[in-house]
Amino acid sequence: MLTEPEMSSAHLLTPASLKKRPMAVSSPSLGHHSGPRVYIETFGCQMNEYDTELLRALLKARGFQFTSEGNEADVVLFNTCAIRENAHNRLYGHLAEFKRAKQERGIVIGVLGCMAQNLKKDLLEERPFIDVLVGPDGYRRLPDLLTDALEYDKRGLAVDLSESETYDDVVPDRAEGINGWIAVMRGCDNFCSFCVVPYTRGRERSRDPKGILEEVRRLADQGVRQITLLGQNVNSFRYEQWDFAKLLVRVADIPGIQRVRFMSPHPKDFPPALIEAVAEHPHICRHIHLPLQSGNDRILERMGRCYTQLDYLKLVEVIQRKGAITLTTDIICGFCGETEDEFQDTLKVMHAVEFQAAYVFKYSERKHTIAARKYPDDVPDQIKGQRANQLVEWQKQMSLQKNRSLIGQTVEVMVEGHSKKSSSQWMGHNEANVTVVWDQSDEPSPVGALVPVLIDDASPSTLFGHLSS
Ligand code: SF4
Repeated sequence: MLTEPEMSSAHLLTPASLKKRPMAVSSPSLGHHSGPRVYIETFGCQMNEYDTELLRALLKARGFQFTSEGNEADVVLFNTCAIRENAHNRLYGHLAEFKRAKQERGIVIGVLGCMAQNLKKDLLEERPFIDVLVGPDGYRRLPDLLTDALEYDKRGLAVDLSESETYDDVVPDRAEGINGWIAVMRGCDNFCSFCVVPYTRGRERSRDPKGILEEVRRLADQGVRQITLLGQNVNSFRYEQWDFAKLLVRVADIPGIQRVRFMSPHPKDFPPALIEAVAEHPHICRHIHLPLQSGNDRILERMGRCYTQLDYLKLVEVIQRKGAITLTTDIICGFCGETEDEFQDTLKVMHAVEFQAAYVFKYSERKHTIAARKYPDDVPDQIKGQRANQLVEWQKQMSLQKNRSLIGQTVEVMVEGHSKKSSSQWMGHNEANVTVVWDQSDEPSPVGALVPVLIDDASPSTLFGHLSS
């Protein structure tokens, strides 16, 4: 952080901005050792967390610094998600809070990511205190836009979508740890009718596998043991002769990497080679997250999901024929026009597949989507809630039953650290990504190691046990 005299000798700040901004401001491009302090809050999915790592790298290279305290920051950034209603509402709450800080301290406020892209007009018009709006393809422009906002009080906008931007040359600024997330593709061409991603993140494009493998090797050298490959439609990855199955295997072959996962795939892109890779490669977790969304053909057709209930169940059968591969899913309840009978079809599929876990959402209309244009959001909220509760309750019982079936068995767990609730317990995840907690013993549990845990007890979300000798 520059002191005031250093700052004023290095910069010509406008009198207005000096008056409005009591915090020291340096132009990061001038290579000072300290710069404006940035606080970033990230909403939504793992892809957004990864994008925040990219943003940190881009800002750090230009001399910005970071703080974990919003009330100490010169710049407050929100990396947003447009998928769920509650992420919207949380952002609006936080913006109201920092609007006051802006009035008092003259901070710069930026909204980044999917909401910036999708709601740019509304945000610009209705919230004039936002200084910078940057969509997912405009991150490279962020340092310049922030510098302009800090020094000249200039409002900045970067919301053009790109057909080629993959940030392949940006090394993410990640926190230390054994988990590494890597985006292998960006955007989506599927246009599911409820989903805003194709509009906020643009067309599908995949990264050069050379860059991805280099990133994995670097992470392995830094002690990362588990890699999760990310993409809005991760298994549609294509680059010259490479498909997703080939990439997955090559990542899993890298020395030091013990476990590889991927998120989120689409059921339409599961060629036999991909299922083989999951079933057979010792370092690829035998776990597939397979979003169902609905179990009814009319609703699936309205959603634009490109499969029927039967297609989905056939795929599940092919996967399950390969042995014990854990399945988890996403479901949307109360999509436009969903009747009780159509909802019951979803429940039937859940009964048939017996997922390990299901992430259940009530449908909420997103601006600019196909569904928002074509279908009325006509299922009453109370019915959506009842249906969601029914699925959640059923899934809880199923998860409990599955977890209890492991009592008395030994599972392999990757050690992640002390349990959040007690420093006398350790925690990690098994291959199916279920949280496992075990009591500390004389045997060490080094972080990143795979250890055998004998399961003694289970809840719907957690397995409890002790180290097996
Ligand atoms: S596959 Fe469908 S739900 Fe997933 S990101 Fe693409 S459009 Fe959205």
